[in-house]
Amino acid sequence: MKQFILIAFLSVFLLGCKDTKPKDGKFHIVTTTSMITDLVENIGGDKVVVQGLMGAGVDPHLYKASEGDVSKLSNADMILYGGLHLEGKLVEVFEKMQKQNIKTVAVSDALDKKDLIGSTLFASNYDPHIWFDVTNWEKITVFVADQLSAARPEDKAFFQANATAYLAKLKTLEEEIKAEIATLPVDKRRLVTAHDAFSYFGRAYQFDVVGLQGLSTATEAGVQDVQKTAAYIIDHKVKAVFIESSVPKRTVEALQKAVNSKNHNVVIGGTLFSDALGNPGTPEGTYIGMFKFNVHTIVSALK
Ligand SMILES: [Zn+2]
Repeated sequence: MKQFILIAFLSVFLLGCKDTKPKDGKFHIVTTTSMITDLVENIGGDKVVVQGLMGAGVDPHLYKASEGDVSKLSNADMILYGGLHLEGKLVEVFEKMQKQNIKTVAVSDALDKKDLIGSTLFASNYDPHIWFDVTNWEKITVFVADQLSAARPEDKAFFQANATAYLAKLKTLEEEIKAEIATLPVDKRRLVTAHDAFSYFGRAYQFDVVGLQGLSTATEAGVQDVQKTAAYIIDHKVKAVFIESSVPKRTVEALQKAVNSKNHNVVIGGTLFSDALGNPGTPEGTYIGMFKFNVHTIVSALK
């Protein structure tokens, strides 16, 4: 009898260990960047539990998965990430999760290859900073709503209604930022930042974009980059350069020094949110708030 109880106890214990997935009936999604986390929260509402791996100020290019992250990912019903090698050090982890039959989705799959900006700096051969064109984010909203609906057909109407409401907000955002950018003459639309996160922004809203560090933050800006960019600032009488929340500010400060040493003046126009949103609970902690903040900071400083 004792033996039987022991075996029964052990089997229950072992079965319990095997399946550690939470049993609250909700759909568990793990996301990478805070932009994706915000989008999934908007579409999924209270039908999903979203866990974002990367908070404010976190650089996705350099991010490595911790043991805790791997266990979150293993327990997810779905993983949503940026793709195009944005999260360059997580590629193997995502492949491992796919082998465990976890639905792993890159939001960049929402976009046509012809709409992407090419780049030799990423293994994907494309620039992964796709969120800086609101029309891309609209396509990604539709795509994510469809992915959630396919996985949880019983909540399809809920997800689609949330996506429709969110798309309306994105439309308003687009109108607002276009109106603000229109107040800045085209010859003043020159955006110099710490790394090349803003190519899609430049293409969508007619800015000439110069990044000091190349596309990925994995390489530091060299002396030559700094001198070349300083010459650009002087030639075009650029009034301000920008720091980014997820990139150390020293390269932009070196650039400002290089310009000033040639008897020209350039100010630091503020800190932009590039590869991560601001703190949760602040306006910049959402995609819409972040975009408005960036545009306002850029336009005010360059006017
Ligand atoms: Zn980046």
